[in-house]
Amino acid sequence: MKLLENKTSLITGAARGIGRSMALMFADEGSNVIFTDLKESDNSRSLLDELHAKGVRADFLAADASDTDRAMEVAAWVTKEYGRIDALVNNAGITRDNLLLRMSASDWNAVIETNLRSVFNYTKAFAPLMLKQRSGSIINISSIVGMIGNSGQANYAAAKAGIVGFTRSMTKELGSRGIRCNAIAPGFIETPMTKQLGEDARNYWVQQIPMRRVGTDVDVARVALFLASDLAEYVSGQVIACDGGLML
Ligand code: NAP
Repeated sequence: MKLLENKTSLITGAARGIGRSMALMFADEGSNVIFTDLKESDNSRSLLDELHAKGVRADFLAADASDTDRAMEVAAWVTKEYGRIDALVNNAGITRDNLLLRMSASDWNAVIETNLRSVFNYTKAFAPLMLKQRSGSIINISSIVGMIGNSGQANYAAAKAGIVGFTRSMTKELGSRGIRCNAIAPGFIETPMTKQLGEDARNYWVQQIPMRRVGTDVDVARVALFLASDLAEYVSGQVIACDGGLML
């Protein structure tokens, strides 16, 4: 039996990068997959085709994760069309890096809205369905930067640290109804998000990582798969770093 047989999962911001890898891995393990992204694109269309080719039910919904009303619409649609949600992965995220003195209020707001408010939006929107089912796994994508900070990323670090507090609060609020809530804190993962940092930054980080390699989207997707599956039946309130030991 596959790890996510008969389950339905929703992943935000999944047209590329870590979210895309999770969508494909979840489908390989038998899950139906609904994924969102800002808008329809070649990436979203090709992912949808790949998911269908795996024989699962899959849908793409264009949805800005920071939009609270849209999150409610997405949840209403999933409830009507699929009738359940077993795993919710709050993955959508952006960076707008700058040193504090140069950081604009709009860059601060954009990062908090997309990375943190989105987690509130989708958790609140899907909680009623999970409460009714008396089951569900919520997986929030934080970052080691939320725990150790990073020069030039005050907005991102604040949002990712906020996710940790939110995750632990949800563990306490929803745990008695069989709902688990965990966070993953990736380190330096090679995706379009980190590509923009350039070769020098990549080489610098490789030297700081005990395992002497950057992470891949598949490394993170494997942790999400574990948390989404019944293998993690008694795991809640955790922040699992996936960073090759970087945070130590
Ligand atoms: P990515 O390659 O930039 O992918 C992010 C995806 O989210 C893109 O498809 C993007 O769509 C989408 N997105 C952006 N804003 C959105 C919004 N408002 N609503 C819906 N979708 C939105 O990033 P990634 O590296 O895979 O990162 C995924 C998650 O892991 C993020 O939460 C990130 O903070 C976290 N993370 C990444 C790393 C890393 O090293 N890569 C480390 C720690 C944590 P567009 O293409 O249309 O912009």
